[in-house]
Amino acid sequence: MTISLMLGTGIHNTSLAQGSPNLGKTDRLMEMAKASIAKNEYKKANYYFRQIIESSASIPPEMPYYFAETLYELKQYDNSAKFLNKYLEINGFKADNYESAKTLEKKLKAPLEAIAACKLCDSKGYRYQMCPTCHGEKVIQQDCSYCKGNGIVGCSRCKATGIVTKKNVFNITEYYQCSRCKGEGRLTCPRCDGSLKEVSACHTCSGFGEVHSEELCDHQVQDKHHDENITVQ
Ligand SMILES: [Zn+2]
Ligand SMILES: [Zn+2]
Ligand SMILES: [Zn+2]
Ligand SMILES: [Zn+2]
Repeated sequence: MTISLMLGTGIHNTSLAQGSPNLGKTDRLMEMAKASIAKNEYKKANYYFRQIIESSASIPPEMPYYFAETLYELKQYDNSAKFLNKYLEINGFKADNYESAKTLEKKLKAPLEAIAACKLCDSKGYRYQMCPTCHGEKVIQQDCSYCKGNGIVGCSRCKATGIVTKKNVFNITEYYQCSRCKGEGRLTCPRCDGSLKEVSACHTCSGFGEVHSEELCDHQVQDKHHDENITVQ
């Protein structure tokens, strides 16, 4: 999100950035990135492009196209599409790499559709992984929040005294044993029923049982032990 925002403002500011001390550095990074692409060293190219984005310098107009190509090769299809769309949106059909951009757009179609159809990965194509906190259970057991893990709570009817008072017809206060707690003043916790534990939605995964990961998905159910934790709907 921040990247595309920076990208947008960066390109519009291109003319303003002439003579900025960062411009030479950006040009150099751009050349190094393109040289890396020519050698099929996409990880290196990715590194240079990210340096351009992280610097406050404006972004060269053709950069989003080359970055999109790089991300495609690194199988980061969702990100690739974002930069490609930005490129076409800003430069239009007058873009230097318009034809290549259109070709890349077509190449992206199948992998993006595969991501959308796959239940094993998120919208960016990263494989969901079993939640490390609840181990896919979606809920966790924790100390009862009502009784703070004590198992007992004060009786609310007698205000934990065990005694209730009542004025009789002569306006004299009479004392009775509290019927709710049988004079104990305490009750077994109604929420955990004295078990001291309560079960609630896992905070780590918000009750999904799965979390995002950095692993690119091949859209294949893995044969390892953890495939039983993947719910295919
Ligand atoms: Zn969880
Ligand atoms: Zn009571
Ligand atoms: Zn409790
Ligand atoms: Zn997938």
